[in-house]
Amino acid sequence: MARYSGPVCRLCRREGAELFLKGERCFTDKCAIKRRSYPPGQHGQGRVKVSDYGVQLREKQKVRRIYGILEKQFRGYFETADRMKGVTGENLLFLLERRLDNVVYRLGFATSRTEARQLVRHGHFTLNGRKVNIPSIQVKPGEVLQLREKSRKITAINESLEAVVRRGIPQWLELDKDAAKGTMKMLPVREDITMPIQEQLIVELYSK
Ligand code: SF4
Repeated sequence: MARYSGPVCRLCRREGAELFLKGERCFTDKCAIKRRSYPPGQHGQGRVKVSDYGVQLREKQKVRRIYGILEKQFRGYFETADRMKGVTGENLLFLLERRLDNVVYRLGFATSRTEARQLVRHGHFTLNGRKVNIPSIQVKPGEVLQLREKSRKITAINESLEAVVRRGIPQWLELDKDAAKGTMKMLPVREDITMPIQEQLIVELYSK
């Protein structure tokens, strides 16, 4: 299946939650879900009885959409998480959080994960001094992400770094704004993921 390229606010309305897919607009009154908090489509305002399977499916779709992952790759993350020690659902979220594009977003270099992915693909960063352009790289504790010298003047990145204060940077990451550099201090813990996610539902869905 191709990557979704339609209106992203529709995805938030579908999942009934703010997924923060549109950068700064998500923090304004223009946010679509604040104005129309019902699912999109002709029957969006009708009453629908949702089965257990439906609830689990929606939770999986929600997380997939937050991180912008296609089904096949998402399933791969789940299988890796299942093989790891610890709680499968939490492992899944940690794998998603440690993706390079997510780290770029979390550090504030981009206003959305989509934007972060594009910046990585276009080679604007180095990781431990080496140029990187693969958004799915897993960042490890101690690794240093640096905006490349030639990219320091990009207005969108600088504006995003100014605006990150509102979002906040999770405690497992550290940003040196003046040096345009971020460090992963430690592995994330469950409390660092503040989006309303019930990962257990995804485990139940894939365990059927
Ligand atoms: Fe979702 Fe952001 Fe659109 Fe609001 S503005 S509906 S949070 S993508």
